[in-house]
Amino acid sequence: MQEAIQPKYHIGKVTCACGNTFESGSVKQELRVEICSNCHPFFTGKQKFVDAGGRVDKFKKKYGI
Ligand SMILES: [Zn+2]
Repeated sequence: MQEAIQPKYHIGKVTCACGNTFESGSVKQELRVEICSNCHPFFTGKQKFVDAGGRVDKFKKKYGI
């Protein structure tokens, strides 16, 4: 096998407080996080949509669009 071409970083296993695990390129092989794309409202499609809608509305009012 050509070990020389292996990337310098590991594919680390990230464990979230919600129980979700996913892989991420990291210098650490294991990483614990308190929030992830699975449980953070910002990353969930529905919440993101609602939040984005509110922000757009504020933006429009602020700039008189
Ligand atoms: Zn999570």
